[in-house]
Amino acid sequence: MTDEAAVKRIWVFIEQEEGRAHQVSWELMGAATKLSQELEGSRVEGVLLGYNVAHIAEEAYRYGASRVYLIDDPVLEKYRNLPYSIGASQLVQKYKPEIFLIGATTLGRDLGSSIATRVRTGLTADCTELAIDPNLKILAATRPTFGGNLMATILCRTHRPQMATVRPRVLPLPEPLPTATGELIREPLDLSEDDIPVQHVGFIPRTGGLNIEYADVIVAGGRGLGSPDGIKLLEELANLLGGVVGVSRPLVDAGWISYEHQVGQTGKTVRPKLYIAAGISGAVQHRVGMANSDFILAINTDPNAPIFQIASLGIVGDLYEVIPELINQVKAIHQGTERS
Ligand SMILES: Cc1cc2nc3c(=O)[nH]c(=O)nc-3n(C[C@H](O)[C@H](O)[C@H](O)COP(=O)(O)OP(=O)(O)OC[C@H]3O[C@@H](n4cnc5c(N)ncnc54)[C@H](O)[C@@H]3O)c2cc1C
Repeated sequence: MTDEAAVKRIWVFIEQEEGRAHQVSWELMGAATKLSQELEGSRVEGVLLGYNVAHIAEEAYRYGASRVYLIDDPVLEKYRNLPYSIGASQLVQKYKPEIFLIGATTLGRDLGSSIATRVRTGLTADCTELAIDPNLKILAATRPTFGGNLMATILCRTHRPQMATVRPRVLPLPEPLPTATGELIREPLDLSEDDIPVQHVGFIPRTGGLNIEYADVIVAGGRGLGSPDGIKLLEELANLLGGVVGVSRPLVDAGWISYEHQVGQTGKTVRPKLYIAAGISGAVQHRVGMANSDFILAINTDPNAPIFQIASLGIVGDLYEVIPELINQVKAIHQGTERS
């Protein structure tokens, strides 16, 4: 029999909205599984809060959780910081996890810091790598620092749990195991609606919102575009390829396009099948957001641009010549497919 008190629990917060799990939860589950292989006596477990959400536990088992702690309560139907942080902190105090991983989404950032404050531990935000320190056998959480020019590995030596957040798409999505099952532990919430000063009065979904994090194709442009008109060219190619437009930060700073298109350290992390980087030099703060793309096509007039160091294919040339030619080629392929 397992000595439950001795188990080193590696927890993943399973973020859900309207009964659907956020994919970052499963990306974290994959990372937790890798950590557990390095940490003797450990076990991957999920933490699920919400109302009528027990079905999500089945999915969590398939992504590697052997157990899910569920607080299912009407008070938790819509996310609010207070009941979620109290509920999760109650679980932490009872089960004493060793490590607690949370997605660095808007919700996760809000919740993670509140839990850390309540249970008096540290949290390393926006990690790009998680490992177990081979000597100390504790979490080694790596994240960019000093404006992205250095990577720092942070250890939480004395407080527990060791908490970390990771942005969506930084980690790969593991393959689910269709037949995996696990154990569901239901816990009550020591809170009623009357205890919560914030009331949920309605939900207004953002219309026309763009989610470049999960796009398969991104056509991105940088300062090399020279003027906001260049974005139309990116859009044309992106539309033909069924993709979306991404940009480097200076274009957002200049007000040429909205922030939701920004890729990089202070923008989105992306992992598309194809990333076209046109007129982007490849500064480290940009690369950190797109270096994990499956295939990177870089177009730049400067043969020494750092973007070529990580490109799968590089074209040294003027984007205003190369992209129109790419558009023609893709159109020709589309027309050929239609005809055949
Ligand atoms: C704390 C901090 C956070 C940051 N966060 C981000 C972030 O999230 N995302 C981000 O992108 N940046 C970020 N930056 C800024 C980053 O350091 C760079 O300044 C920025 O990425 C540069 O953008 P760029 O490559 O478009 O421009 P540049 O570095 O100016 O590069 C333009 C490139 O275009 C090429 N070019 C010019 N004309 C043409 C043409 N006609 N055809 C083809 N190529 C051409 C040039 O050779 C050059 O390589 C951050 C910086 C700091 C300090």
